This record gives sequence, structure tokens and C-alpha cells, in this order.
Amino acid sequence: MYKQLEETPLVMVEQADQLPGLLQDLSSYSEIAVDLEHHSYRSFQGFTCLMQISTRDTDYIIDTLLLRDKLCCLNEIFTKPSIIKVFHGAIHDVEWLQRDLSVYVVNMFDTHEGAKLLNFAQLSLAFLMKHYCNVVADKHYQLADWRIRPLPDELVMYARKDTHYLLYIYDMMQNALLDAANGQKNLLQSVFQQSTEICKTRYEKPVFREDSHMTLYRRNKRLFDNRQLYALRELYRWRDRISREDDESTGYVLPNHMMLQIAESLPREMQGILACCNPIPPIVRQNLHKLHTIVLEARDQPLVKPLLEEELWTRVSTQNWNKVNLDGALHCPHDLTHIQDFRDDLPTLLGSTYNINETEVGAKKIQMIKPMISVFEAEAEIDTPNHVTFVCPYERYKKVKPFIQSQETTLTSAENTATVPGTEDDNAERIQRIKDHFVEVSSKMVKEGAEEEAEKTNSAITTHSLPPLPPSPEPKRSEEMETLRSKVSRKRKNRKKDSSAQPSKRLKLDKSVEVNSPSTSVPRTGSKKMKEEGFQPFDYSKVNFSRFRGGSRTSAQIENKGKPKGKKRKRHHGKNKSMTFERNQW
Ligand code: AMP
Ligand code: MN
Ligand code: ZN
Repeated sequence: MYKQLEETPLVMVEQADQLPGLLQDLSSYSEIAVDLEHHSYRSFQGFTCLMQISTRDTDYIIDTLLLRDKLCCLNEIFTKPSIIKVFHGAIHDVEWLQRDLSVYVVNMFDTHEGAKLLNFAQLSLAFLMKHYCNVVADKHYQLADWRIRPLPDELVMYARKDTHYLLYIYDMMQNALLDAANGQKNLLQSVFQQSTEICKTRYEKPVFREDSHMTLYRRNKRLFDNRQLYALRELYRWRDRISREDDESTGYVLPNHMMLQIAESLPREMQGILACCNPIPPIVRQNLHKLHTIVLEARDQPLVKPLLEEELWTRVSTQNWNKVNLDGALHCPHDLTHIQDFRDDLPTLLGSTYNINETEVGAKKIQMIKPMISVFEAEAEIDTPNHVTFVCPYERYKKVKPFIQSQETTLTSAENTATVPGTEDDNAERIQRIKDHFVEVSSKMVKEGAEEEAEKTNSAITTHSLPPLPPSPEPKRSEEMETLRSKVSRKRKNRKKDSSAQPSKRLKLDKSVEVNSPSTSVPRTGSKKMKEEGFQPFDYSKVNFSRFRGGSRTSAQIENKGKPKGKKRKRHHGKNKSMTFERNQW
């Protein structure tokens, strides 16, 4: 059991002549507990303010500010392998001991490492104190200004508690590690090994590199263009120089979040720089002119690209990954297959005819382009339900043109009679109708293609009509379908004539033309052939292209690739989801 605080003597070590006595006392123990308190805000590298050492009988508090250049004598104890030094979370302490006191640690037990191996819910010292000693640690003073002298009693008490219970925690933890390993020592040894690794840490003074700012940039969520990155690099350089010269922490000179804010917004005016900082760091106020010059230089940089592409890809993938919906079965880190209700074969958007799918990820929508490898799709079963078929632009045009014309006629007559212009709903309905029509026509073409292919392989040249179309709710539409049917059947007759005259090589080509190939379909529809089909050159000057192009998400996406998401893009959101079939159409 540990000694109560009240029963334990506290020794303040503030004079060099106390050190031999301290070393003498410490050398009589096989384990001691050690902790340090540190100040980092008003110093570039920071400095150790206090060292606490507890034996099973005494609590020592050593003033490392007063005795900074005298304490290397502690190496006698700290490097002695027969004395176990117990720390909690020693990674920084090891570096601070080296940097400020030239003290190194040999044979250490880090209770933080022990807590990790014991799978504790929390790894803090406060948690271990509560768990093993039922003592509530008030961590209120953890970030206190440890430079203050004389040290207030509250801080002395706080610092003392950090090591007072640590040897008892170490004892309890050893038992727990042995229990957890069924009496074997492997877990215990593992903690010692991990602790030894921490002891090997070498303190290195922070160095400035030209790309130092990129570490900060990559950690933050924002995407910068080359001007913003220029500003960030120069602000970082300025901050590093000032911090070293004035011996201040970078956080004191200009905190990261303020520096990123300035680099992102590139304020034209000096006041704008101040507006990025709350509260305004004194050194920023003193150097406002210099900071303003950096921002203006950044603004003068030629905009190379809206975004650095390689950055965009790494960042976008990271961002999406961070926002993955972990509640979704597809992204769930756990294996759910043992749960009876779990099904991964239910219909999803991925199985639909859309090439572009929208997925809700968190609050934000991201767009996912379905990968298309058409060369393999040519081999695929063409009568698979939901098979995605490429129809060349000219074919699309031919199929949809009469329908759109009829729609326009309806629209014109409606405009003539009605006083209120068409609402957004009407528009959406109209777009939906065009889409339905197209999907219907495409599916017919796929069927025909399959049938034709079957006919060709049997070398039987017969004529057949199109399968009957389902009754259309709109009379105009069925008229269009009739026109379309006769045109298609005429075209197929011509094609059959062609194919009977061509060698088998051509048959292969036909398959790819009708079903998948965008490139080979155009040459086949030569001007002579068009004439045969009664082709009338279309007067494009009368076409209102904006009607078709207006919300094409795909083209917008391609054009905007790399641009930051703006309000404009959001305005189209959802409304044109059903228009994905327009891809590359116009
Ligand atoms: P501790 O080991 O908890 O006594 O902490 C040692 C020193 O680390 C403190 O004196 C602080 O200077 C520093 N420190 C501890 N926790 C934090 C924190 N959350 N943020 C910044 N510095 C910390
Ligand atoms: Mn500590
Ligand atoms: Zn501490």
C-alpha cells in the first residue's frame, strides 16, 4: 500500500548542496517514480521547470530552473540499470531530460505503456489514480505556468501527486500484467521493451525546411491553390524566423489556425489580416506591414491552376475516406455476415443504369463516377437487366428529336394560352419524360441488337417488326414512337442489305456498333446512307441547347474538376440527378 500524502515527507530541492543527500537517498531504492513539469508557451524550444521524484518514503520536488546546470549528477541514478525509473507517458520527459539537464534514462517502466497492454478504457494518469488508488486527480493545473516562483502551494501539491501514487500503481500494474498473461511474464516484459524504446528517443532541435508548411497543410482540411500555398509557406517561414529570434513558441507568435486562415482568405487590406486573428497576437500587430506584404505577394502570383492537381487527389481521397459512413453496411469495419438479416445483394444505386451515383456521406454529398470499361462490356451479356448501353450521339438525337419537337409544340401552345410561365416542377417533369422516353428507346435497341445478332449467326435474313411498345399515357408520345418504329425498321432493312453483301468480319463490327461502340457507329452512318433513310439536315439554329445542357451534372463535373465547391454547383444539386443519361450527349 502507498503512504498517505500527509504521512509522507516532502523535500523541496532548491540548492546544489542538497543534491549529494538526494543521490544518496535515491541510490538505496530499487525503483523510483519520476515526472517533470514544463513550460512551452513563451520559449521556442520550451524548458523544464520542475522535477518530481518519489520513493516509497519521500516526495522530492526539484527546482530545475535554479539547478538546471547542476542536475547532470542525476545520471548516477537515472542510468543505473538496477534502479527502475517509473514514469507515466515518458516520451516528452525523456527528451526534456536530455535537452535541459543532459540526463539519460536506463531501465524504465512507463505506466502509460502498461495501461495500453491492459486495454484500459483510458490511458491517463488520472484514470490510473482513480482505478488503483481511488484518488481523484485534479488535472486543472496541468497547463499552469510552471515558471512561477515561489511556487504556489496548489501547484506544489499538484506536482507532488503526479509521482506520489506512481510506485503503487506500478506494483498493481505488474500484478495485473502477470494475471493478464496467466502468470507468464511476457506482457510485463513487453512494457519494459516499449519503455526501453522510449528511452532511446533522441531530442532534436526543430529544423526549418522549405516544405515544413506542407505538414501543417496536409493535416488541415482545406484545399489551397498555388497563391494560398505561397502565402502559407512565406507566413510559416516568417513565423519560424521570428520565433527563433525572439525565443517564442510558434503558437505564441502566430497560432496555426490563424496562419491557415490568413493564407486561405488572403485579405487585401491589413485590417483583414487582423480579422483572421482573435485575439490578435502582439507580434502579429507589430509586424502587420510585413505580413501584409507577404499576402500581397501571394495575391500577385500567377494562378497556375485552380488547385494543385496532385494535392487535390490525395486530399479528396483522404476527405472522402474520413467522411465514410461507418454506419453503412458497406463501410462497416465489423464483419456483419453472421447477422441473419445482413444482405449485401439488395438493389442499390450502383446497379442502376446511371453512370453517376450520388452518395450521402455525412451531411455532404459526393459524386461517384461509376468506372466504365467499355472494351469488356462488348463481350458482356447484352440482355442482362439494367445493362448500360452506349448509344451514339446521332442515334440518340434521332430517337429523341421527334419527342422533343412534340414537347416544344406543346410548350409553345401552352405558353400562348397560359399567362404563368412553367414552374420548376413542370420542367423537372418534362426532363423526366424525355429521360423515360430515351430509356425506353434504348432498351428496345438493345433487344433488337440481340435479336439481330442471333439472326445473323443463323445466316437467316428475315424481316421482322419491332416488338409492340407498351401503351403510352401521352398520345403525342405514341405518335412519336410510331415514327421512330418505322424509321428504325427502315434502317434495319438497309443494314441487312449491307450485311448480306459484307463478309463475316462486318458482322462482328455490327455487333459492336449497335451495342457498344461509339467510334465505329459514326462512319457507318455516311451521307449516302442518311439520304437513303430520308435524312433531313436539321436546323440547329432553332435548337435551344440550354434546355438539354442546363443541368448536366457530368459535364459540369468535368468542367469544374478541381474547382472548389461553390453555391452555383449546389443549385443544380439533385434536380438533374435523372439527367445522367445526357453524358457526352451534346
Ligand atoms: P504531466 O506529465 O501531465 O505532468 O505534464 C507534463 C507537462 O506537459 C506539463 O507541465 C505541460 O507543460 C505539458 N502538458 C501536459 N499536458 C498537456 C497538454 N494537454 N497540452 C499541452 N501541454 C501539456
Ligand atoms: Mn509527465
Ligand atoms: Zn506532471
